[in-house]
Amino acid sequence: MQVHDSLVELMGNTPLVRLRKVTAGARAQVLAKVEYFNPGGSVKDRIAVRMIDAAEASGALRPGGTIVEPTSGNTGVGLAIVAQERGYRCVFVCPDKVARDKIDVLRAYGAEVVVCPTAVAPDHPDSYYSVSDRLAAEIPDAWKPDQYANPENPRSHYESTGPEIWAQTEGQVTHFVAGIGTGGTISGAGRYLKEVSGGRVQVIGADPEGSVYSGGTGRPYLVEGVGEDIWPDTYDRDICDRVLAVSDRDSFVMTRRLAREEALLVGGSCGMAVVAALRVAAEAGPDAVVVVLLPDGGRGYLSKIFNDEWMTDYGFLRGSSGEAVVGDVL
Ligand code: PMP
Repeated sequence: MQVHDSLVELMGNTPLVRLRKVTAGARAQVLAKVEYFNPGGSVKDRIAVRMIDAAEASGALRPGGTIVEPTSGNTGVGLAIVAQERGYRCVFVCPDKVARDKIDVLRAYGAEVVVCPTAVAPDHPDSYYSVSDRLAAEIPDAWKPDQYANPENPRSHYESTGPEIWAQTEGQVTHFVAGIGTGGTISGAGRYLKEVSGGRVQVIGADPEGSVYSGGTGRPYLVEGVGEDIWPDTYDRDICDRVLAVSDRDSFVMTRRLAREEALLVGGSCGMAVVAALRVAAEAGPDAVVVVLLPDGGRGYLSKIFNDEWMTDYGFLRGSSGEAVVGDVL
């Protein structure tokens, strides 16, 4: 019988899919690494299983223990899936800008979720960083994976995402583009691709306008899961050749185009990464092979990015038809 004993076995090994429509004009190939094929629906499954394996091995996570983590949803889903298989309790802490649907998903997997205000400084006692620290200290047998500092986060991408991209492109990848949140994806996969290619692969970060990675001050933006107002340990500043800033509007308009034109129903950070990838592809020659990582699916954003009223309220849509004005993103 062709049976998998656990969903955990199915994490990683996601497909690479050619973008054909939104690339009009670019001579380079643009290939999307579609991470919603992971069982938890996002790239974060990779780090979840790796961080838990390492914590079990070191004794930091004991049988029956509780996993406490500040997460915008995707890391929580990955952790919840592995936790369910292995009998751990999960308590997640989310900022209130996270879509309601994503929080409901975490609860559906059996996790407990604490929601905190977005509009406070990271060192404020109500910030989601502070609240998760407090819970991790108070709950007995609690373990905090700390995806912003855990070296297993970038390591999981060094050992899975990077090698997969190299193998799938048969070593022909020339550019790797990914959004930067914790920095785990770009630092781990980027380092691997640089090493294996002898420095030939260019690594390009995509960042929301306002975030520190692209020189911003940490001012608010609406794209979820990427950008920072602090510099986490998981981001290796030596890996990116360039970091491109992308506006909320361009990110969301491209996200809608990906659903309509490429049948890729994906999240806002995917639109952001694709805008950056298309800028790279526009400058690159015909032999370039640009791989862009799409971190998650779009179903968690139906009430925001895919909702005309929400988009209009923020001024992201123009025209009376209520449709995104396409073609002007780049
Ligand atoms: N997009 C989304 C939707 C995410 O949840 C994350 C993870 N925070 C990222 C992009 C960025 O990935 P990383 O943390 O590896 O930089």
